[in-house]
Amino acid sequence: MLFVFSAPSGSGKTTVVKEILKIFPEFRFSISATSRKKRDIETDKKDYFFISKEDFEEKIKNNEFIEYELIYDNNYYGTLKSQVDECLNNGENMVFDMDVKGALSLKRIYRDKAVLIFVNPPDRNAIIQRLKNRGTETEETLNKRIARIDFEMAKKDEFDYVVNNDTLKDAVEEAKKIINKYYNTKEQK
Ligand code: 5GP
Repeated sequence: MLFVFSAPSGSGKTTVVKEILKIFPEFRFSISATSRKKRDIETDKKDYFFISKEDFEEKIKNNEFIEYELIYDNNYYGTLKSQVDECLNNGENMVFDMDVKGALSLKRIYRDKAVLIFVNPPDRNAIIQRLKNRGTETEETLNKRIARIDFEMAKKDEFDYVVNNDTLKDAVEEAKKIINKYYNTKEQK
């Protein structure tokens, strides 16, 4: 199965995904490629494959992506075929962190194998505050992220599930329950 998490930037989605991967350590995180600059807290080849815009465009030409998007005007983000093919061939479950358009693309391709989970933030102001507190953005990139919030929120009805992220604990618990509907383990997680 492909468990795909989406939400507007700053809604705490990546934290939820990291917690889910702790609960299900046998799941594989799909490492996307991006042309955005690495943040200090991030690790290349773990959080993303950080590559140049030119390299990204070369990979597009070579048809190496399952899907990709140009997000916030000028940064590419994409899912590499090599990442997904290898896992699915090994029968592994995968977890994705991607924008709403990417998630809907995966649904079109993988149908019932893809489970789309929207991480619903408490409110718009909470997202903006979180983005500001995070301190990773310039004023320009912060404004681009804020401008995209409504676009992402408008797509949530197209998802299979909406998980409320009022508190991290509840959001993780809800996401875990959803995954357990599709995934049977010997031990109860
Ligand atoms: P960030 O710059 O905050 O890491 O990510 C920006 C947005 O790009 C987030 O919504 C993130 O989930 C999304 N994203 C990350 N990887 C991919 C990907 O492979 N494909 C798509 N479509 N979006 C992605």
